[in-house]
Amino acid sequence: MCKSFNFVDSNSDYTILYDKTATGKKRDWRGKKQKSTLMSEHYKALEKRTGAPYYGKKAEKICDCAECLAFRRDKATGRLRLYQAYFCKVRLCPMCAWRRSLKIAYHNKLIVEEANRQYKPSWIFLTLTVRNVEGDALKQTISDMMTAWNRLFGYKAVKTAVLGYFRALEITKNHEQNTYHPHFHVLIPVKKSYFSHNYIKQSEWTSLWKRAMKLDYTPIVHVQRVKGKKSIDAEAIEKEVREAMEEQKAILEISKYPVKDTDVIRGNEVTEENLDTVYYLDDALAARRLIGYGGILKEIHKELNLGDAEDGDLVKIEEEDDEVANGAFEVMAYWHPGIKNYIIKQ
Ligand SMILES: [Zn+2]
Repeated sequence: MCKSFNFVDSNSDYTILYDKTATGKKRDWRGKKQKSTLMSEHYKALEKRTGAPYYGKKAEKICDCAECLAFRRDKATGRLRLYQAYFCKVRLCPMCAWRRSLKIAYHNKLIVEEANRQYKPSWIFLTLTVRNVEGDALKQTISDMMTAWNRLFGYKAVKTAVLGYFRALEITKNHEQNTYHPHFHVLIPVKKSYFSHNYIKQSEWTSLWKRAMKLDYTPIVHVQRVKGKKSIDAEAIEKEVREAMEEQKAILEISKYPVKDTDVIRGNEVTEENLDTVYYLDDALAARRLIGYGGILKEIHKELNLGDAEDGDLVKIEEEDDEVANGAFEVMAYWHPGIKNYIIKQ
């Protein structure tokens, strides 16, 4: 069990934390903390199963993750802004995965906007897969994919066609077959001339990936041009501007997609199958970078001085988080394991 802040008894006055975004969407602190608690229990059980204190230490870290959240409330808008918290940064911690994904999505928004401003590229979205593998082959397969990635982007056809990339590793699980599906989601800016001069067909992307991975079968590779849907209704805006806006909107949607939570734990209990999943994913992802930038996207990432979304600070997500209005007052929220929610002491 996690350590608890049991300073609140049932007679104390408290309110439940309610945090929402500028657009009114509720931030699910509670749900993430509950998932993290369950993950911590799995690590604890792994320590028991293996006798390795390594897992127990991770269990403790995750358990302490986001126990206490210090916000500042903006007087004018009433909105909360997190300014202090401890995040454990364990790879499989659902709380940290959530914070990380928000940060990556925000970084990508800035990077895509800047790339559009400076280079006016077109964008393609590539998915590179391999066949599902058993748990004990996952770590090696991911290493092979990383090596193959470097080969792929060293090929002349690719080098002349792309301006850069954003790559995210995702691992899903097939629970029926008990196998794992590691794959890359890649967002690629290309010159406008790509479609007329350096075009790489889907079948070519497939054979290049097959060659890079040294596979004896044909892997599944998806490629699509990112095009805007006609969702922005503004007749007054010129066609060209409207299309650019639609395209950018679609790109931002896609750049969010690769960093969604990996489905690690099923159900609400510690099970043998869940323990296997945590065991294999923990091993496969140890000291492994999940995202990477290349070419102009890497340059822009550096220019914008964005820092590391994977191992860096998870408290501050957006730049505007800095601007805490004058007269803002502090709100401290504590995780209460009995109530299973964040409470604010009155
Ligand atoms: Zn954490």
